[in-house]
Amino acid sequence: MNILLRNLTLIDGTGGPPQMDAIVAIRDGKILYAGSESGWSSVREEDITLDLEGKFVLPGLIDAHVHLAGSGEADSQFEAEDEAMALKILSNAQKNLAAGITTVRDLGGWNEIEFVVRESIQRGEFAGPRMCLAGRFISITEAGAEYYKGMYRVADGVDEVRKAVREQVMHGADLIKIGVTGAVLVEHGEPGATHFNQEEIHALVEEARKFNRHVAAHAHGADGIRKALRAGVHTIEHGTFLYQDPAAIQFMKEHGIYLIPTLKVGWDVILSENLDIPAWIREKNKATQNEAARSLKLAYEAGVPIAMGSDVGTPLNFHGENGLEIYWMGQAGMSAMDAIVAATGNAAHALGWDAWLGTLEAGKVADLIVVDSNPLEDLRVLADKTHLQFVMKQGQVAACHAGGDLPSHILAKDLLFIQ
Ligand SMILES: [Zn+2]
Repeated sequence: MNILLRNLTLIDGTGGPPQMDAIVAIRDGKILYAGSESGWSSVREEDITLDLEGKFVLPGLIDAHVHLAGSGEADSQFEAEDEAMALKILSNAQKNLAAGITTVRDLGGWNEIEFVVRESIQRGEFAGPRMCLAGRFISITEAGAEYYKGMYRVADGVDEVRKAVREQVMHGADLIKIGVTGAVLVEHGEPGATHFNQEEIHALVEEARKFNRHVAAHAHGADGIRKALRAGVHTIEHGTFLYQDPAAIQFMKEHGIYLIPTLKVGWDVILSENLDIPAWIREKNKATQNEAARSLKLAYEAGVPIAMGSDVGTPLNFHGENGLEIYWMGQAGMSAMDAIVAATGNAAHALGWDAWLGTLEAGKVADLIVVDSNPLEDLRVLADKTHLQFVMKQGQVAACHAGGDLPSHILAKDLLFIQ
């Protein structure tokens, strides 16, 4: 029995032009075919057919930078008892899925609880997105480590750094996250300052490579970015001051190193009228936001691969609103299509999961979203749940609006409602 989504406009996540009158054929959780109606001849009596006239179908969105342990609290002090944290992580994970984010890459969890939550989702006990997990954020001794106790793993010196990597791998991490520079969201943190020494970063990347793990480098300052690139990291997170170093931009292009710019977090704080936000958070974001947008624009124009990461979980940056990052990427100069690719095909590539995820092509996993308006005309469609019709994960409807009239046998047993 095949599921046929027909009569739709297909935006397949490869960057190719949208195809009207397209069909997506799904079987056993995978895509059999996605393309023009004329290329699919085997419509059969027993197939489940959904007529999606006027709708747009895209791959499920992939957010390559989230923090499931945070819920957007104003002061980002999101400490909780482990039991409460497990529920919080699950709830945040489900908000992503119900908003069309079918895959998240968590770059700093809490007391390893996100691994437990992932296991129960994988066992089918709860609904939730696919998770690519880094475990703890590996950092030098600094203010942030006190501020985000359950998220950080402090490691000073080459031996400690290697041990910290081994611990994350032991817990089940898919990749390693390193804080190469200071942070914006740490009160006395200096985002431009380089934290780890070159030999420590080298040791971390070497250790991760032994276990075949990618390394994501939190790096704002140009010196830290350079050191991270020299050591062989796979993604630069934030990259705020990247514009200061054209050679680093060139290196990223030549070696296919991803920039994951995380613009939404700054705009949320700057544009919000929430007075609970500590003044220092607002001031630090104001100081760096234009630089971050400029770095993205220059990197994009130079041909550096870009992936979408919203940093949801940070202050006023709420799970389920991740899609706004795509809009902000467009505002910073990316074409609407390239911003969509950053959140689909490119994001899957940045995770190293592109062989089976991220685009709507034959053989890939059937993770997709259906929206009722053209996101190429206004990227905010991807962040507005009133436009989201339903979310499919692995060929089953994982989220839809209450009272929708979808056939019951394509609904997941733990169906979520889009709210
Ligand atoms: Zn982050």
